[in-house]
Amino acid sequence: MLTAVAWPYANGPRHIGHVSGFGVPSDVFSRYMRMSGHRVLMVSGTDEHGTPILVQAEKEGLTTRQLVDKYNRVIAEDLQGLGLSYDLFTRTTTGNHYKVVQDLFLALWRNGYVQSKVQMGAISPSTGRTLPDRYIEGTCPICGFDGARGDQCDNCGNQLDPVDLKNPRSRINGEVPKFIETEHLFLDLPAFTESLGSWLSTRTEWRPNVLKFSQNLLDDLRPRPITRDLDWGIPVPLDGWRDAPMKRFYVWFDAVIGYLSASVEWARRTGDADAWKEFWTDPAQAYYFMGKDNIVFHSLIWPSLLLGQNGAGDKGGTPGAFDTLNLPTEVVSSEFLTMSGSKFSTSRGTVIYVGDFLKEFGPDSLRYFISAAGPENQDTDFTWDEFIRRTNFELANEWGNLVNRSVSMAHKNVGAIPAPVAPTAADAELKALAKAAFATVGDNLRRSRFKAASSEAMRVVAAANKYLSDEEPWKRKDDPERRDTILHTALQVVSDANTLLTPFLPHSAQKVHELLGGKGVWAAQPELREVDDLDDPSISYPVLTGDYAGEQAAWESVDIEVGKPLTKPEPLFAKLDPKLGETGPEWAPIA
Ligand SMILES: [Zn+2]
Repeated sequence: MLTAVAWPYANGPRHIGHVSGFGVPSDVFSRYMRMSGHRVLMVSGTDEHGTPILVQAEKEGLTTRQLVDKYNRVIAEDLQGLGLSYDLFTRTTTGNHYKVVQDLFLALWRNGYVQSKVQMGAISPSTGRTLPDRYIEGTCPICGFDGARGDQCDNCGNQLDPVDLKNPRSRINGEVPKFIETEHLFLDLPAFTESLGSWLSTRTEWRPNVLKFSQNLLDDLRPRPITRDLDWGIPVPLDGWRDAPMKRFYVWFDAVIGYLSASVEWARRTGDADAWKEFWTDPAQAYYFMGKDNIVFHSLIWPSLLLGQNGAGDKGGTPGAFDTLNLPTEVVSSEFLTMSGSKFSTSRGTVIYVGDFLKEFGPDSLRYFISAAGPENQDTDFTWDEFIRRTNFELANEWGNLVNRSVSMAHKNVGAIPAPVAPTAADAELKALAKAAFATVGDNLRRSRFKAASSEAMRVVAAANKYLSDEEPWKRKDDPERRDTILHTALQVVSDANTLLTPFLPHSAQKVHELLGGKGVWAAQPELREVDDLDDPSISYPVLTGDYAGEQAAWESVDIEVGKPLTKPEPLFAKLDPKLGETGPEWAPIA
């Protein structure tokens, strides 16, 4: 199973809106799949080319290289802190990525899916520099929306050409751009209309909004530029282009190929350079995770590049350097996490950075919030009140308290997992409920229904708390056999619930595993490793990777072992001060 996670852009630290779209959902999914016995390859990296990088470097007084080095590291550290279990989290400025992008391009070129055209390109009249599409805004020629960007209209979702915008203006300084002639390469998207259409018609399991959105765009596919006038990016491997200093692949084109290049890099680092192939060909499945503004790249554009590489677009052809590659099995998109109804925005000050958040609250409460209350199906407002409520009532009161009181009582009275004697119907009923949850929670996770999955898992926790309140083991001093039987039942269900919650709460799941007397790694965590560039040992960079095959967590109920020594528990989750809901933390005060 390939888990392909959208690439965070390296022009700044990422905020919690970003990781609620691509990060946490993909990790919960991958952890569940590994626990169910699948071999998973989870890849991504930082997206480091394109004009916004240049703009930000200028702002910070850094070279482009210094800027991407800085934010590649910040982002990799944040994702590690969040416990995202990448097999490889790399970057787009590696020698390996350059080579894979150029090889894939050559297959498209040879199969006739790339055309050269002279088009009108915008420059800034005051500086003479190229003005990239996304730095031009104006009125959408299709829907009339006034905030349309040169590359895309966020209102109607159509791809645009900046020259077609009405009232175009520069978003940098407001001036009217000047359009001049320049030669560029275009992906011949209309040459995939039939092949994309018949492939999309087989995607019956996709969320209906994603499928409809993609099918609606099919009728109006237009050639899309894959090169830019820019000196920061990957050179085009064709005579006349290779050495042109201002012709580079467009950042979207190179970034989307990152899924493949990261897989190839991972394989090369394992010592088996072909190991990536098993994750890109049948019967492997490919799941792509992203925010909704990226759907079109994963449901139409990346599939077109794959079809073209495979020689399977409407014009046919022969497979390129990568033979025949799988198209996406599933495109899982999240809606936006908003703040006071608007998108998180650095410029408006409504931003909560992942690093700040982790420092104060740790990873699992954020992972849980995103899973249980995140923007899975609709834009969702982040409020500190709701975050505190979820943390205090669901994690601390419900789950933390269940673990704490069952383990404490058993530890105090027996010191180990007690033996059950003559279980009652109530005992059997609770244990059966927990066992049955593996199927329902698992089925929801398989379909990326994280809200339903987490609430089904928490139902087991609630049932166990009710059971303890009904059975009152603390009042059974005169009947230690019954008390021990109740505690045994409760601990069995704590063990099962811990397994069910492991994909959401991998850090606290490790602690619960140890409280129950477990040894070794229950849920493995990613490591940040310094590595040399595979093609240029003079360059080194950090990657996220990990040894997940060694973890013990498996998606099944395991009988607890009578007599196994227990550890005296400390609270699993610290309760947050409700006042935080009114003020927000110091580093992100509520306005
Ligand atoms: Zn529009």
